Amino acid sequence: MTEYVFENKRLTSGTPVVILSELKTLKQTLEASLSDEEAKIALHICRKKEVKSGDVVSFESPHRPIFIVIFDHAQKDLTLTGGKMYKHIKNEASVAIIVPQNLKEEGVYQMALGIELGSYSFDKYLTKREDKDFAKLETVIFKAKHLDLSAKKYVPYAALANGVRYARDLTNEPANNMTPEIMSDDIKRLSYLGLDVEVLDEKRMKSCGFNLALAVAQGSENKPRVVVIKWLGNKEKSDIDLGLVGKGVTFDAGGISLKPGNGMWDMKQDMAGAAAVVGALKVAALQKLPINVVGVVGLVENMPSGSAIRPGDVVASMSGQTVEILNTDAEGRLVLADLLWYIQSEYRVKKVIDIATLTGAIMVALGTEMAGVMGNSQKLIDDVKKAGFASGEEVWQLPLTSAYNKMMDSEIADMKNISESRNAGSITAACFLERFIKKGTSWAHLDIAGMDKETKGKPLTPKGATGFGVKLFAELMKNL
Ligand SMILES: [Zn+2]
Repeated sequence: MTEYVFENKRLTSGTPVVILSELKTLKQTLEASLSDEEAKIALHICRKKEVKSGDVVSFESPHRPIFIVIFDHAQKDLTLTGGKMYKHIKNEASVAIIVPQNLKEEGVYQMALGIELGSYSFDKYLTKREDKDFAKLETVIFKAKHLDLSAKKYVPYAALANGVRYARDLTNEPANNMTPEIMSDDIKRLSYLGLDVEVLDEKRMKSCGFNLALAVAQGSENKPRVVVIKWLGNKEKSDIDLGLVGKGVTFDAGGISLKPGNGMWDMKQDMAGAAAVVGALKVAALQKLPINVVGVVGLVENMPSGSAIRPGDVVASMSGQTVEILNTDAEGRLVLADLLWYIQSEYRVKKVIDIATLTGAIMVALGTEMAGVMGNSQKLIDDVKKAGFASGEEVWQLPLTSAYNKMMDSEIADMKNISESRNAGSITAACFLERFIKKGTSWAHLDIAGMDKETKGKPLTPKGATGFGVKLFAELMKNL
């Protein structure tokens, strides 16, 4: 982890500096922040390279390395600028960022957040990597004479970064080291933050009636868990402001409806929804939000074996409705159905959002740029869309109508878990979930298959798990 220092002491000579500047004020900014000699060289290089907004230029002056970051003042959020900058400064042990006069305080903390998100790496299993291959950045000093910066004001941003990084850690971990039991133990450790964590083991799940979730888990040696995480930041009232539900299939082989081998390794990430819920609750606790939130995650492994559920089996859900399981690879919705019923019954939650890597079809529709959102409350969906846009985790709404819902009717049970057609796969999955939403509950469903993993590496999401959903939920909770 990098340390961020907000102070205005004199710089130690030789400390690498980062100059932030708008293009139109480049000359003045360079002259104000650097020695005459350095400013001259810097300006020459910038002109030669014809720099534009978003560019980063670096060079070695005789005294210190210098980085020039061109940003646009119209940019509302500087998180991305921080993430882009990181790539250039990561091999310096420390850098000082000279904050320009026209930059607002929030921009400074956003930049630190960007560095924190962009610098994430999952390298614990690389035993042969040499020291020189690791990033060196340890300290980032922000210098702004015109601002009253403080480490205290950075806390909410650090909390957000922490939640995202935690969700990434959980999701990146291979499935042999992130079984339902291991994951529930890991979540339990969060109680030191004031979170109330309750783990329901297989026995408790049986007595509570998590029949669909148990049906998914019954083919695996690794026993399932349901974890309930509560953040009660508003002790004045007993109501829960928001319920979050996450799909936590720690490995999805597909069950008897086995997936093809190619790419199956990605299915260790089929618990990314649960990770996002846990990460969001961690943020709520670290930020000490004055709200009451309950998160429920269902942790199961979906495996083929002699004890696995068969295609065609009928199981009665916790709600009492029966489900014909035609495809054992459509297991996420089975787990979510019981979780949704449970959170509404047990905590009388009136507003609930579930998040899941649910359907491949959502990638056909939206690719890897946006998640899908569906639900029964346009107000809640709009809030989710707004939070997604503000947090940089964008979502796009798909329709839910009774015509789609009918596609889930079964001949021999109340419903089936897949429709017979491949059409509208993300929508029919959501229609299935809708059947487990009680009257009077506002519900939104986020399908994040496609968003949970970054394959190329972007400034704020290095390769691997993205932690998608944590930032969106954090933004939503802030405005509850
Ligand atoms: Zn599946």
